[in-house]
Amino acid sequence: MKTDTRLLAGLTELGIPYNDRMLEQLETYYEMMIEKNKVMNLTAVTEKDEVITKHFLDSLCFAKVYMAKRKEGFSPKIIDIGTGAGFPGIPLKIFFPEIQIVLLDSLQKRIIFLQDVVSMLGLDGISCVHGRAEELSGKAEYREKFDYAVSRAVARLASLSELCVPFVREGGQFLAYKSEGATEEIDEAREALSTLGCKKVEILSYTIPQSDLPRKMVVASKTAPTPAKYPRGGGKPMKQPIGVKK
Ligand code: SAM
Repeated sequence: MKTDTRLLAGLTELGIPYNDRMLEQLETYYEMMIEKNKVMNLTAVTEKDEVITKHFLDSLCFAKVYMAKRKEGFSPKIIDIGTGAGFPGIPLKIFFPEIQIVLLDSLQKRIIFLQDVVSMLGLDGISCVHGRAEELSGKAEYREKFDYAVSRAVARLASLSELCVPFVREGGQFLAYKSEGATEEIDEAREALSTLGCKKVEILSYTIPQSDLPRKMVVASKTAPTPAKYPRGGGKPMKQPIGVKK
């Protein structure tokens, strides 16, 4: 990764400082993911240049929200919901070592892989948790405890909001990484976001650095606590998303 001009230019474009150790950690992570992908479904994208843009730089677009606050010496607590092979959470932890992050996934095999990654890379301030978001967010140690909940490629926004917003403290933000064509999905989720306590919602539109791939990020600011009845059980967040007519 040290000589990968696309990665280095992408980091510069995002305003993210880096050092050799971070680039070595990213290289090791890439190699572990490709190796494990031979026996387990982790990623459809394996070619290095594509992984750099579609996984690494895409994940790091968190910088668009975070860099201004980072300058103020903020060390946030973050939860990555449905992290899969570790996106966006692992690249965030490598390049923003000051964060404390929980990587959550309902598939235990992926969590075991991520625990290996964490120990091989020598990361601290990171925990890999096996569980379902809608079960964990009811527990006192998780509920409304995070500055940011981030999530990429897990569910449609109205459902995803019910999985993610209960983790966010008042004054914190839920960030959903979405594709360019997510406009309808975003409109459909406005009632859910508001009901769950996010009255202020901004949409960032951009292309992933060093590519022409358009993306959107939903930035939902939590302005009120989530009512205790959310998230609902019995698969309701997915089957009957708040505010979505059948
Ligand atoms: N975020 C990663 C990415 O962008 O590459 C992984 C996306 S993958 C398509 C979705 C992941 O979400 C899977 O690993 C799945 O196990 C996890 N997941 C789905 N529903 C979940 C839930 N309710 N709670 C926790 N994890 C969930």
